[in-house]
Amino acid sequence: MICVPIIAETTEQALKDMARAEAFADLIEIRADYIRNPDLGKILGAKNKPVIVTVTPKKENGNFTGTEPERTALLRQAVDLGADYIDISINCPELGTLIEYCRDTKSIVSYHNYRETPADIPDTLKKLESTGADIIKIATFANKLSDCLKIFDLIRNSRKDIIALCMGEKGELSRILGPVYGSFLTFGSLETGLESAPGQIPAQVLKDIYRVDREPGFDLYGLIGNPVSKSRGYILFNSLFRQYGLNSLYLNFLVDDIDDFTRYFQGMLSGFSITMPLKQDLMYILNDIAPEAEKIGAINTIVKDKGLITGYNTDINGVIDPLLERTPIKDKRVTLLGAGGAARAAAVGILRKGGRLTILNRTVSKAEALAGELGCDFGPLSDFETLKTDILINMTAVGMFPNVDQTPVDTVPVKDMVVFDGIYNPEKTKLLTEAEKNGCVIIPGINMFIHQAAEQFRLWTGIEPDTDQMKKILDDFSAKKTHEQNPDSENWG
Ligand code: NAP
Repeated sequence: MICVPIIAETTEQALKDMARAEAFADLIEIRADYIRNPDLGKILGAKNKPVIVTVTPKKENGNFTGTEPERTALLRQAVDLGADYIDISINCPELGTLIEYCRDTKSIVSYHNYRETPADIPDTLKKLESTGADIIKIATFANKLSDCLKIFDLIRNSRKDIIALCMGEKGELSRILGPVYGSFLTFGSLETGLESAPGQIPAQVLKDIYRVDREPGFDLYGLIGNPVSKSRGYILFNSLFRQYGLNSLYLNFLVDDIDDFTRYFQGMLSGFSITMPLKQDLMYILNDIAPEAEKIGAINTIVKDKGLITGYNTDINGVIDPLLERTPIKDKRVTLLGAGGAARAAAVGILRKGGRLTILNRTVSKAEALAGELGCDFGPLSDFETLKTDILINMTAVGMFPNVDQTPVDTVPVKDMVVFDGIYNPEKTKLLTEAEKNGCVIIPGINMFIHQAAEQFRLWTGIEPDTDQMKKILDDFSAKKTHEQNPDSENWG
């Protein structure tokens, strides 16, 4: 079940938010500590879905500034008015009498820890079980991804119904997998910006993208890197899994401790994407590597097949596939701006397809080194002015948000040139806008993201996804800003 917490400041706003939440929530949590002079009669009188009433004091990271007797009185009032559940903190001095008072209302006894997931958390579970409350709630903070595993153990071992989760970005997977493993509910925000705890995911994302009501027994995929919160892979892959009728799930894993990941999670995954800064760090787990990935010296995709782990680099597909949709590459004069990681993938791809490549870079020595290794020409960015170019590829960061007024070269591309920009924020860079004005064929960076993801999907599932459909998935999701998990996206990789 998905429970949407309401953190409105007035009764009127709470009523409005509750009505909105009821459209997709299974339960509503009224955070009475946020509401000034809450009118619980009005709120509970208007409910169409089961309601939990919570009054969390300031000292426990809530908003209630009244006395303990006032808090207890509010919770008793909630019971009298027909709340379906009340949540009572383990620290509440009146815990025992409130549990007894509950009658038809179910009692939830809760433990929150905003700093860590302590090693002795199983003892806390026993303590909560012994209170006689109907339901246990344990919310801790994840400092490591593996803290989520402690939470899954609690769910498995609890003798009562239990709500268990880890807060914080590394706890995100507990909010998604918790209900699948048997947590009584998971909390999801009404919309982005209305989270009642760190790491909370919008309820509609939990429902429509992660499908937390799924049955166990699915294949798990994910993105590992740091940061990962800006990635849009979770939208794309989970929507594709749904579209192709696959009960698979794609999650973000914020990995700053590679040993924690490889020890506890690598084995759970059927495959995964790798983003910065880990693209070169996981070579040691591979049984095999695709030749292109070996040439690039970096992997962005792991495929597991019958126990064998193979590394791929689909950034090549990200550059080559959208280009081939618009132009042949063989024997074309290709000017590549940049000599970093993305440029390296583009260069390997262009040379494989028989393009005549010149690499231009701000730091010429880097262009020289890459060109020397791969066997092509090089020069400074200013060489673009005199170079004859059929295909221009920008793989520098110039023109990316917030520097949207910049272009990597001063000369504007001319008619008949195909201009590809790796940057996807903004969707159309100044370089592309000017090129389009001059009659060039332009290819925005979102195509790179989509095509590298399409190849990942193909490697994992054997299904060739429709890239137009993938673009539509991203466009549709962007249109629903209020449901977006990470609205200020700069790195979708
Ligand atoms: P990187 O390894 O850090 O390389 C950055 C490149 O940009 C270098 O060639 C660097 O030149 C150049 N550069 C940076 N600032 C510059 C400036 N002010 N003037 C001139 N050149 C400058 O980064 P990367 O991973 O290759 O990424 C490069 C670009 O590709 C980014 O814009 C990224 O968004 C894009 N990308 C897109 C996708 C996608 O899916 N669409 C995927 C990956 C990357 P120096 O060597 O002189 O520093």
